[in-house]
Amino acid sequence: MADELAIGIDVGGTKIAAGVVDEQGRLLARGRADTPGTDPAAVLDTIGDLVDELRGEHDDSAGEIGALGIGAAGFVDASGSMVLFAPHLAWRDEPLRDAAAERTGLPVVVENDANASGWAEWRFGAVQGEPHVVLVTLGTGIGGAIVIDGKPYRGRFGLAGEFGHMQVVPDGLPCDCGNRGCWEQYASGRVLTRRGRSAAEEDTALGRRLLDAAGGSVQDIHGSHVTQQARNGDEEAMRWIADVGDWLGVGLASLAAVLDPGVVVVGGGLSDAGDLLLAPARSAFSHTLTGRGYRPEARIVAAGLGPDAGLIGAADLARLTATSGS
Ligand SMILES: [Zn+2]
Repeated sequence: MADELAIGIDVGGTKIAAGVVDEQGRLLARGRADTPGTDPAAVLDTIGDLVDELRGEHDDSAGEIGALGIGAAGFVDASGSMVLFAPHLAWRDEPLRDAAAERTGLPVVVENDANASGWAEWRFGAVQGEPHVVLVTLGTGIGGAIVIDGKPYRGRFGLAGEFGHMQVVPDGLPCDCGNRGCWEQYASGRVLTRRGRSAAEEDTALGRRLLDAAGGSVQDIHGSHVTQQARNGDEEAMRWIADVGDWLGVGLASLAAVLDPGVVVVGGGLSDAGDLLLAPARSAFSHTLTGRGYRPEARIVAAGLGPDAGLIGAADLARLTATSGS
């Protein structure tokens, strides 16, 4: 049967991941390339090459691959055709959908990467069938997605779910977005990166271990090194993650005040910390929630699909859009 498969692409700041995805969300083949700088034409070329490669490998002679979904870290307009702004890719009003359709001959859907991940978790992952879902992805920043009544909620202009830039601390830490005190300055992997690098500069015991793990250069210390130390039982690293968990829970309580989700799913690299992060988050959430003690509380769970969620979700949205004939 035609059009059961779609190709999903996840465009990140350093890597572009691609895969052939079936209607059960399974990855049948994979491709990967370095992001070739920030020039939109070069990124489009790489996307086109990955699609050619996957079609070749996957023997597309039967024409089973019927759509292409592209998840990108940026603001995607409500019609899914333009990337309005991608901070890490220097894209401004980039008509990616039509350009990719022309390059590949496939119908294309472009989606914000966190929205794509949220959709994948709802379709195939940790929150299947839940009617009201909030997803947060914790990486260098915080991405977000909302599923309401089983549909992705994008807002009027396609920009809903940018939770990372809610202000949680007046006059707080400066953020790349130009404001101060944004949630992602307190509840994302960059907090661990920042604290890890300071500890290395101050030559603390944990700082020295982090520096070793990072190969001796302070700038190569990342949040993942702190998470690893915490999982090995380092109490200071565990405290840092618990601090991030506290801020996570406080912000999620604000989201619950607005959206009243049944479940919050936490993904992204920092979710590797598991209950070291989620237990303090649940506790802070319960203590901050408006009407606490007198209302049902949303569950907070770890994502189920790992780093492939973005491309799986992008492929699935593209397949559904293509087969619905819109
Ligand atoms: Zn911000």
